[in-house]
Formats: sequence, structure tokens, C-alpha cells
Amino acid sequence: MSDNVVIVWFREDLRLEDNPAFFTACQKAKHIIPVYIFDDQNSGRWPLGAASRWWLERSLTSLAQQLKRHGNELLFFKGDALEVLSKIAARSNAAAVYWNRLYGPAQIERDKKVKSTLRQSGIDAVSLKGNVLIEPWKVLNKSDQPYKVFTPYWNRVKQLLVNQPPSIYPLLDAIPSAPKKLPDSMTIKSLKLYTGDVDWARDFPDYWQPGVGGAKNLKNTFIDAAIDNYSNQRDLPDVDGTSRLSPHLHFGELSVNQLWFDIWQSLQSESQATQQQLWSYLRQLVWRDFSQYLLFHFKQIDEQPFRPEFTEFPWQHDQQSLQLWQQGKTGYPLVDAGMRQLWRAGWMHNRVRMVCASFLTKHLLIHWHHGANWFWDTLVDADLANNSCGWQWVAGCGADAAPYFRIFNPITQSKKFDAKGNYIRRWVPELAGLDTKYIHEPWLATEAKGKQTGLELNQNYPHIIIEHSFARQRALQAYAQMRR
Ligand SMILES: Cc1cc2nc3c(=O)[nH]c(=O)nc-3n(C[C@H](O)[C@H](O)[C@H](O)COP(=O)(O)OP(=O)(O)OC[C@H]3O[C@@H](n4cnc5c(N)ncnc54)[C@H](O)[C@@H]3O)c2cc1C
Repeated sequence: MSDNVVIVWFREDLRLEDNPAFFTACQKAKHIIPVYIFDDQNSGRWPLGAASRWWLERSLTSLAQQLKRHGNELLFFKGDALEVLSKIAARSNAAAVYWNRLYGPAQIERDKKVKSTLRQSGIDAVSLKGNVLIEPWKVLNKSDQPYKVFTPYWNRVKQLLVNQPPSIYPLLDAIPSAPKKLPDSMTIKSLKLYTGDVDWARDFPDYWQPGVGGAKNLKNTFIDAAIDNYSNQRDLPDVDGTSRLSPHLHFGELSVNQLWFDIWQSLQSESQATQQQLWSYLRQLVWRDFSQYLLFHFKQIDEQPFRPEFTEFPWQHDQQSLQLWQQGKTGYPLVDAGMRQLWRAGWMHNRVRMVCASFLTKHLLIHWHHGANWFWDTLVDADLANNSCGWQWVAGCGADAAPYFRIFNPITQSKKFDAKGNYIRRWVPELAGLDTKYIHEPWLATEAKGKQTGLELNQNYPHIIIEHSFARQRALQAYAQMRR
């Protein structure tokens, strides 16, 4: 075994800058072996969704190119991570494996096994913090228990981060080369991440540039053009008011610590009004940490309602409505626009995610599992922690959730947050010609103007699949039934 050789195991940290595992391995070793292992068999209930596979293939390509520019090479493997790492170590005489920690239950279980087995065979296994602002076990309440409510958690995290902003690992000018003895690598293509039989992702490249370059471009554009207005605009789906960095953060092409650090530094020189906007963005980054935190402390949140009484909720089995929701054919323009944005772009604006999720769980009474599964498969930013918490929050059964009886009205949400209907017109072209007066309730246009509008309900756009006040009443009854 050679102390000079260290394996760097990349996972959801597909970057070289501010990457603690990569940086530390480079400092320590004479030779490094960067590897990516497609280990879907150890992902528990959540094998990678199709949109994530599309993204991952491109993100790995970008990382491989960066490593090549530095004179090293990213090796690709498929299979059980422990077996693969053991083989690579045996073949290359590596003395250690370094990685950045993840917090999903299946990942933790696998990583523990990898660590203990490697160590037993004399190979050092080192995990570091690279994917969150603060480790979940470092933030506990006065009784040494995990927080369940965001605001006190946020106050504590903010205090910790203000006192000690995250330290950033720089990109090294030169990185160690690979050793001579290496196992054969697969190619990215042969991992068969995205096979694309039905090319529903054909439009994704119009919206996304996976990899570090795309992450930096988006970050710079957001900081230059939108962050100063973040809290004023973040709820408006037709404006580029949010950063759209979620997939880049999920795959770790951009470090959340780096993002926090950059914004935190610029805070000092800004006016009070701008500081407020920046703080509201930093708060969202802490929501991301909070989801990871909840997943770490409450391992079942992807499946079990956080509030146990919801196991008795009278969910309905309604395959037809589920499909109409998935296809963006509910007759509610904002819901349909959101679901179609998801399908075409692999992403949906946060405000609209809430409206669509509320519609599924409250108007249609369909279990949030179905919604979470659909999002998991179709979102490029699909993230077990954020997705599970987002769905539980909207469905009313999550930690710190919106009260169940607060049922989003898809019409008033639409009028409030897409007042001119531009978001709807973009994603639901059948409605593009409607007056703004009718865009949120197209059935009123056909009643008032008949064929003049060019819109025929149930011909070129569906009539509503359920009436709002009926659905609201039914949801409240279901809630009351559960509580009985
Ligand atoms: C039903 C539902 C499902 C969701 N599923 C996911 C998911 O699978 N993956 C995902 O990354 N986010 C998910 N979210 C949270 C949120 O919608 C997205 O993070 C956000 O829309 C991403 O856009 P952005 O990068 O422009 O966000 P910005 O407003 O620019 O925020 C910056 C970053 O903060 C984090 N963030 C923002 N809002 C939240 C939030 N509410 N919870 C946790 N982190 C947040 C994200 O990492 C985001 O990239 C979900 C929300 C809901 C209501």
C-alpha cells in the first residue's frame, strides 16, 4: 500500500473548487485517483429519476473535462461502491479514500459500511463536510434535541454562521497526477445514465447548462441582476427573480458554502434595503440545510408523515385525475402552466410548486407520495430532502407545515402572482390569446364571449376537473374525518 495514492470519491459534489475531500486529498497525496461510481443499487427507495440522470451525464462530462485540463482523469464505474472502491484500492495500492458526506438514510448506511470495511482492510476512509452549511448534529435545541420548526433553527444557524462564516477551500493551481497502476474505467456513455428512448428532455438544453460553467454563469447573472430584488420578486413565476441554482446545488457543482460566503461578503458593503434582500436569499439556503437536517434526524420523512395522525388521512385513489395533473390538463391555468413547465424544462418555480402540490393533495385528495414520485422523476433538481420536506409542508403533514385548512385557491394565487398572465401564456399556449381579464379563469371567457375567444373548453383547453369551492369543502371534511 502506498501512502502516496489517495482515491477521491465524487458523489453529489461534482466540482473542484471548494471541495473539501478533493482539496485535502490533493494536499496529502502524491497521486490521486478521482472516481465516480454509479451505485444506484444502494439508493434505497429512490433510484435516480430520469431528469436527474439527464443532468448527471452532462455534469460528469463537465467534471471530467476539468480534471483533464489539470492533467488527471475522472474514472467511471458502475456497481456497489464498496466493491468498486476495494478493487480500485487493490489495483492501485491506494492508502486512503476521501469523500464529502451525504445525509440520506440509504447513503449514510452505505457510507458507514464502506468506511468500516475499508478501515478493517487497512485503507484509511475519510469523510468531510462539503454539502451543507452546518452539519446536522451540530444544531440542537436547549434540550439537546433536533429542532422541528424552522424559525428557531434559522436563528441558531444564523448566529453560528455570522460568528464563523464558512471557510472556503481554494482551487489548487496544480493537482497531483494519477498513479501508473489503474483499473480500467468505463465511459460515461456506457454507464447508460440517460438513454432517452422517448426524448422528452429535448428542450432541457434550452434552459440548462449542467456543470460548473453553467453554475457560475447563473450565479453571476443572479447576483448582478436579481438578488437586489430577491424578496420582492421571488414569488413571481414570470420574472427571473430566483437564482435557479437548485440543480447545480443538488449536484454540488456549486458549493453552498461558497455561495453563502460570496453573498455574506457583499452584505457588508450594501445598503440596508439591499442587505434585507440578501438576507432573505441566505435564509432560503438555510431552508436547504434544514431539509437535509430533518432527513438526517428523522429518516422516514420521505415516506412517513411527520405528523403521525396523517397516516389516517382518507386519501383517494384517482388515477385519471393524477394523470391529468401530471399532463397539465386540470383546467386551472396556473396549475397547468406549472406542470407543463416541469415537463418541458425539468423545473418549476417555487410558488407554482406550492400551488400544484396543494392542488394534488387538497383539491384532488391524492396522496403526496404520488406527487413526490412524479417530481422525483421529472425535476432536474430532484433532491430527497427538499422534495420530501416540500411535499410534506404543502400537504400539511410536515414538520412546521402550512396548516392543513390553508388551502391555496389556484385562481387567486394566479391573479396575485401572475397578474398579467405572462407565465400562463408562456407555458399554456392555447390560452395565449385570452384577455388578461380571463386568463386566470378561461371558462368565464367562453361564457361571456363564446367562440370569439377562439377557445373551446374541452376542445382545445380542458374545463376544470373539479370546482374550487366544492374541492375546498371536501378537503376540510376529509381533514375533520382524520381528526375524529
Ligand atoms: C412540493 C415541493 C417540492 C420541492 N422539491 C424540491 C426538490 O426536489 N429539490 C429542490 O432543490 N427543491 C425543491 N423544492 C424547494 C424549492 O421549490 C426549490 O428549491 C426552488 O424552487 C429552486 O429554485 P431556485 O434555485 O431558483 O431557488 P432560490 O429562490 O434561488 O433559492 C436558492 C436555493 O435555496 C434552496 N431553497 C429555496 N427554497 C427552498 C425550499 N423551500 N426548501 C428547501 N430549499 C430551498 C434551493 O437550494 C435553492 O436553489 C420543493 C418545493 C416544493 C413546494
